[in-house]
Amino acid sequence: MLNGVPVPPERARAAQTVAAVLTPGRRIALTTHVNADGDGVGSEVALWHLLTARGLKPAIANPTPVPERFTFLLPAGADHSDRAAKEIEAADVVVVLDISELSRLGDLQRAIKQSHAVACIDHHVSQGSLPGGPRLVAPEAAATAELVFDLASALGWSICPEAARALYVGLLTDTGAFRFANTSPRALRVAGALLERGVSPESIYESVYASAPEGRVRLMTEVLQTLVVEPDVGLAWVTVPPDALQRHGATADDLDGIVEYPRSIAGVRLALLFRQIANGRVKVSFRSIGDVDVAELAHRFGGGGHARAAGASLEGSIAEAQQEVLAAARRYLRGD
Ligand code: AMP
Ligand code: MN
Ligand code: MN
Repeated sequence: MLNGVPVPPERARAAQTVAAVLTPGRRIALTTHVNADGDGVGSEVALWHLLTARGLKPAIANPTPVPERFTFLLPAGADHSDRAAKEIEAADVVVVLDISELSRLGDLQRAIKQSHAVACIDHHVSQGSLPGGPRLVAPEAAATAELVFDLASALGWSICPEAARALYVGLLTDTGAFRFANTSPRALRVAGALLERGVSPESIYESVYASAPEGRVRLMTEVLQTLVVEPDVGLAWVTVPPDALQRHGATADDLDGIVEYPRSIAGVRLALLFRQIANGRVKVSFRSIGDVDVAELAHRFGGGGHARAAGASLEGSIAEAQQEVLAAARRYLRGD
């Protein structure tokens, strides 16, 4: 219990299997899903510190660049995402964090499929399609950051202040600043242990939530204009207008949290955000309140996630995706 929160035995055993492949002398690459979020970046940065302290030289190699909002966490020289495929190919061990699905690893899928050893630390519901390897996976964990904390605790590795800060960002962002259903007593205990290691919640708040470029707020006003509410079924959705990201100099990360607005309307049980992404596809974010299981709904469209936060990407135009997804959502909410 080195870091102050006991680790369940099965997690401790799983942690040992992951740690067994992370030995000095091996070349290690750390990666996470496309459009990394605070949990993906926080978890890999924390693991980078933990491994560096043990004499390893891990490299972060992500399929898409680390969003500006989280670059304050990156240690100098740690991020090799601009040559990620080469890093993955050269690695003896790849650690995939905060995702178990090969399809969400973007351009790195092929390299990861061919890797010698792929370890995974994740809290998604889906079993995933990664090549076999050691796993520390627990859907009941609030964030992958909680599991990286457990890895350190189970192995008796102490957590330096920079790693603590990164783990705190993972917990903070994946729980919607400790508001969502995954805010378990344990998540708060882990957060407490991280504060005891010197994390400053106010300075993290400032970096993560109060350093927005003007374009993020202007983008938000434009997206919120598109709000449609169907009170009879408890459904609400917003749509990112074409080219809105470019016009506001914004990135996908700047959309984070917007779907909370349709979800915040009284009586709404399911909120959606639609946006055009590359390759003629449409990304749909699903958020719910109460017993509406959006992981199941997103799964019908080839996506996945968690019970109250999930995503999927569909082929076709926004209008086509809306027609298909809204019809399924209405049926689902009516219980047909
Ligand atoms: P997002 O709507 O992108 O914020 O994602 C919400 C949750 O659903 C996160 O846990 C994601 O990892 C997951 N998710 C998003 N898109 C997909 C997808 N295409 N396939 C599987 N899971 C997804
Ligand atoms: Mn994530
Ligand atoms: Mn996560």
